[in-house]
Amino acid sequence: MVSQSPDTKTAPEAPIRAPSAVPVDDAVLPFEVSALDLRGRLTRLGPALDDILTKHDYPAPVGKLLGEAIVLTTLLGTSLKFEGRFILQTRTDGPVSFLVVDFKSPDRLRAYARFDAKRLKDGQTSGELLGKGHLAMTIDQGADMSRYQGLVALNGGDLEDAAHEYFLRSEQIPTRVRLAVAEELNAPGAGPRHRWRAGGMLLQFLPKRAERMRGPDLDPGDAPVGTAPHVVAEDDAWVAGRTLIGTVEDIELIDPDLSSERLLYRLFHEHGVRVFRATGIEAKCSCSRESVENMLRSFSQDDRDHMVENGVISVTCEFCSSTYVFEPKEVAE
Ligand SMILES: [Zn+2]
Repeated sequence: MVSQSPDTKTAPEAPIRAPSAVPVDDAVLPFEVSALDLRGRLTRLGPALDDILTKHDYPAPVGKLLGEAIVLTTLLGTSLKFEGRFILQTRTDGPVSFLVVDFKSPDRLRAYARFDAKRLKDGQTSGELLGKGHLAMTIDQGADMSRYQGLVALNGGDLEDAAHEYFLRSEQIPTRVRLAVAEELNAPGAGPRHRWRAGGMLLQFLPKRAERMRGPDLDPGDAPVGTAPHVVAEDDAWVAGRTLIGTVEDIELIDPDLSSERLLYRLFHEHGVRVFRATGIEAKCSCSRESVENMLRSFSQDDRDHMVENGVISVTCEFCSSTYVFEPKEVAE
């Protein structure tokens, strides 16, 4: 659900004047603090996140970690300006060896994790659950277009650390990310059960003014070996921005009684903050009987023969646990 009715005539990226008084879950709210040349997005996830994590019934630490990956993917994937997919994957040697979150523009989200239950222990941090390996972010614009993949090493840090490293090395955009996931107890109307909630914020320094467009430390180039690189101090506007996002607490990101607009106002009111049209997010798998059928047809007859059990081929989607059952002759070439 988004904060405006569908017939609102606001153009994308046009400022919205009336702030939401109540929190809007499963939505991403872009914002801008133009006095500081900051742009960002704030997301709050409720039912969509709960749906994904509850269906898989993961142990709580695995659910929380996958939730963090879902929040990060939501913040990054909703920046796609074209039809396509943003896929975040981790492959690591920790108890949670594989995470994948698949965002299909403009609003579809699905995810799953692989883990070794025997290696889960109380009190493990996200970094300890992941261990060492890498995180890959893939942008896929469809069959005829090139794929882009960015890689970043995971060395015991969490997904926020990995995102900062990625933006520093690959994009060279000063970026800060905050991710928070928690289980809410006794959610209203849902009886005595846990519900997953999450929130996240992305903040980037994108200077438009010449005096703020100084680059980071450049290599000294032809200067004699040993010459100290010319160090450029961080811009005061970015120092202010990253200091402010550093004060955001997990509880503020998750709080079901604090709207996104109020949270942004709380942070940036001194500098002035504008919000733009929010985008809704849905937990919805993109698998279908047809796509599974096409996949099976692309296999060799020999491979298909090996998949037959009790006279049928059954395929279960790892994202949503839907099972598709075929007669072998249905998927023969
Ligand atoms: Zn599926």
